[in-house]
Amino acid sequence: MTPFQRLRVLYQGSFFVLFLFAPVFDLLRFDLTQGHLIVFGQPWTLGLDDYLAGRIDYQQMSLNILLRVFVPILLLAAVFLGIARRWGRLYCGWLCPHFSVVETINQLVRKASGKPSIWDKKPGPPYHPDGTPALSDWRYWWLAIPLALGFAFLWAVALLTYLLPPTEVYGNLFHGTLTRNQALFIGVATLVLFLEFTFARHLFCRYACAVGMFQSLAWMTNRQAMVVGYQRERARDCASCESFCDHACPMRLKPRNIKRLMFACTQCGQCIDACHTVQRDNPQGSLLQWIDGQQALQADGSQGLLTDQAVVDKPKVEYRPLKSVV
Ligand code: SF4
Ligand code: SF4
Repeated sequence: MTPFQRLRVLYQGSFFVLFLFAPVFDLLRFDLTQGHLIVFGQPWTLGLDDYLAGRIDYQQMSLNILLRVFVPILLLAAVFLGIARRWGRLYCGWLCPHFSVVETINQLVRKASGKPSIWDKKPGPPYHPDGTPALSDWRYWWLAIPLALGFAFLWAVALLTYLLPPTEVYGNLFHGTLTRNQALFIGVATLVLFLEFTFARHLFCRYACAVGMFQSLAWMTNRQAMVVGYQRERARDCASCESFCDHACPMRLKPRNIKRLMFACTQCGQCIDACHTVQRDNPQGSLLQWIDGQQALQADGSQGLLTDQAVVDKPKVEYRPLKSVV
């Protein structure tokens, strides 16, 4: 794993822990029993009770709604989309607790079947980008399936703690005294998430997640935003490579494509790292790099420098690992 990917895993792991424990430490949760948000240990109310009791007038109530609902939402959205507009789906690739599950399960499914997802038609190359063997063994399914189930259960319990007091949820769980509704919520959410983690994890990120979609839309409005750039003029250097960049992509994108076709890119950089490794003995280095500004204008395809067909028509030659492993 490259230092870049180690750093990303560190961010993802830390955010996953935060996702699980934010309700426990009252950093953020909506308490259905009290009917309001709790933010950093403080109740985040609109003052509806005070209004109904006549302690505040409707002007104060309107001001509360403005300052405690609209202003925070607009501010958060502006910062979040501002980051996405400049750097793309950084939240997805570096923080999102769903994407960490996607990548973890992808790795195990790849070890079990040679493919990162059951929807891939063909297995990937039997080598890693550095030439070491990438052997698959069906017994990894015994790890992949229980892990998907474990993640689904963890997620379901964590989601419930965002709605009910965590001490009650974990206490009831620990003592086996969940109420009917709590058990129903955890059971149904675990089942749905298990199916999603097993069959449609990257498809959810790519087509169904509103958070990802809005980041992508903001990113697409900025033609100079950071993007994975491909040195097309060096396409011949790809001839001896098994398209490792394609196989590395957890979103199952083709990283040499134009930006429009990379709409769901999560800026994880795995394609770039794969190419760096493949081309490590090439004095010109990787064909894929982060680019932005003027360079990025070429990558968005509007100037006709890159075409889908050009990537599809890449000459196919027999793969020779750069470093043979005995
Ligand atoms: S861009 Fe790099 S990793 Fe992708 S096919 Fe070309 S040489 Fe291989
Ligand atoms: S195209 Fe590259 S940076 Fe984007 S999601 Fe795929 S591997 Fe990550």
